[in-house]
Amino acid sequence: MDILIKNATIVTNDPQRPVLRNSSVGVEDGLIVSVGKAGSSSADVVLQGDGKTLAPGLVNAHTHFHQALARGLEEDLALYPWLDKMWRFSRMLTSAEIYAATLLGAIEAVKSGSTSVITHQSHATDRQSVLKAVQAMNAVGLRAVFVRSSPRVLTKASEKMKNAGKLFKPPEEALKDSRVTEELMGEVNRSRGGLVKVWPGFPNVLTTDPDFILKSCEMAQRYGVGVHTHCSEDRSEPILYNKGYGLRPIEALYKMDVLSPMFHLAHCVWISKKEVQLLGKAGGCVVHNPVSNMYLADGVAPIPDLVKAGATIALGSDGPASNNTQDMFPVMKSAVLLQKVIHLNPSVMTAPQAFRMATSEGAKILGLEGKMGVINEGMKADMILVNMKKSHIQPVYREVSSLVYCCQGGDVESAIINGKVVMENGVLMNVDEVKTLDDIQRIANHLLKRVRRSERHN
Ligand SMILES: [Zn+2]
Repeated sequence: MDILIKNATIVTNDPQRPVLRNSSVGVEDGLIVSVGKAGSSSADVVLQGDGKTLAPGLVNAHTHFHQALARGLEEDLALYPWLDKMWRFSRMLTSAEIYAATLLGAIEAVKSGSTSVITHQSHATDRQSVLKAVQAMNAVGLRAVFVRSSPRVLTKASEKMKNAGKLFKPPEEALKDSRVTEELMGEVNRSRGGLVKVWPGFPNVLTTDPDFILKSCEMAQRYGVGVHTHCSEDRSEPILYNKGYGLRPIEALYKMDVLSPMFHLAHCVWISKKEVQLLGKAGGCVVHNPVSNMYLADGVAPIPDLVKAGATIALGSDGPASNNTQDMFPVMKSAVLLQKVIHLNPSVMTAPQAFRMATSEGAKILGLEGKMGVINEGMKADMILVNMKKSHIQPVYREVSSLVYCCQGGDVESAIINGKVVMENGVLMNVDEVKTLDDIQRIANHLLKRVRRSERHN
């Protein structure tokens, strides 16, 4: 056996046996091979689980690692003024800076309990930068999807946006650019050894030509992957879309017949009752980012209605520059609390629901339903060991509630991804965390100088 986690409390996420006490989990060849009493089994690596909780690794289903160098740079702005600043910043990133930012993001993810991440990048998407980002995530040992976003283009809806002519490209540019995505998918997704896959995506339904959306979905299907984008984060988006196309974004996507668990829509804050029903009917996927939605004063997504309608909901931190961490524990907690307070209803959303969204639902939208997100024999060995013997956690009555309401990323001691220990007792096994952190501030200062210089010249 490769790894044995001994005598832990196991939050399995399996409704048949949700919590197992004083139990052990064995791992071999990337998979969970035994769950229960350890007996006399031995393994190459033994992790002691006394006083600790073993849980499925968290899935951060929406972030932008390239923003890691912009963390804390802009505050107290609404989405579009904030995006103006972020676009200016992101356009200046070199491939070396993409590597540094992605490495920082991946380190933070693993250290705070995320074993899978979807990172969406719409700037610095040249071949070299994408390969650098993939290399950084593989270096840490993270399971990840790199969404290579197409450029923003002029559409019937986006041409009415401020600065559209200056910022957005003609629609044919996106088509030309998608060849690079396809090449990278062929190259990266077929390579052995890494856990990072490239998926196609676009910045926003509003700034993407409907024909291109269809073509992206066809391409994703050919490669057996999904598509990832943003939708209706700001109140203005469905209004502009309606002006351009005579219907709302989700209505258009439903007509195109593209909605599915593998077609990810980040946010969906400003969606109508009809759009909620359409997402439910199609089993569409919404990635909810409650902390970022509060940070940018976007509003509150109608998550309980979407769940009731039958939509698939996963959770995301959103980029490091609008959160400002990648820690998924406060994301789970905020997802629950935000719905309770907006509905003035304490039972409208629960901790176990948020936990499933951050684990098994996250696995589903990665195309890994029934293969990951539950601690059972035959599942992918992506798990975290959390130290619950802490003053902000004890006593523990319901493990899942303690994980959602009390725990923080820093309570995660060890992480296993695809059957490999990538962090043990807080120490990353594959990269030098201290050196990376030493380098980051210097790299960020240098970048900021260039950004400020370009602002003065514009
Ligand atoms: Zn986003």
